[in-house]
Amino acid sequence: MIACPFHIPAYSYSSALNPVIKKCIFCYDTRLKEGKPPACVESCPQQVMTFGKRKDLMKIAHERIKKNPGQYVDHVYGEKEVGGTGWFYLSSAPFEEAGFDVNLPKKPIIDNVKDFLAIVPMVLTIWPALFTGFHLLATKGKSHGHGDDHSHDEQEGH
Ligand code: SF4
Repeated sequence: MIACPFHIPAYSYSSALNPVIKKCIFCYDTRLKEGKPPACVESCPQQVMTFGKRKDLMKIAHERIKKNPGQYVDHVYGEKEVGGTGWFYLSSAPFEEAGFDVNLPKKPIIDNVKDFLAIVPMVLTIWPALFTGFHLLATKGKSHGHGDDHSHDEQEGH
């Protein structure tokens, strides 16, 4: 999917009439609502995943890098990439070697389209009005002229 620089959202075509786009929602409906951590965080045997509020996790990540010099690359992947992501990563190997895209912009993806999106409401309102006006102007003469509209004949006794 173009909109996601990480190509995460996946199409599910199990129902032709009701195709679904799926992506990680942190098990919100199935677990978070019940106060449980996400399934992958709970089930990971190595406990490499930590779940929590963004601010807290960012603090943990930077402290972990600081307290373990040389063990991690000095960068929290996802902190600034495309305006910040919902998943963050620490790595002992350079991120590009781990398959991460290290050339992503810092500005949020939405910045690429927000100016366009801002004019959509205007286009959806002004253009129909404009073309209706053109149509009325273009047909104005026809409805009052002596064309094939016979209503005038009765009035004028033809
Ligand atoms: S199990 Fe993990 S990856 Fe899957 S939806 Fe839950 S949080 Fe996301």
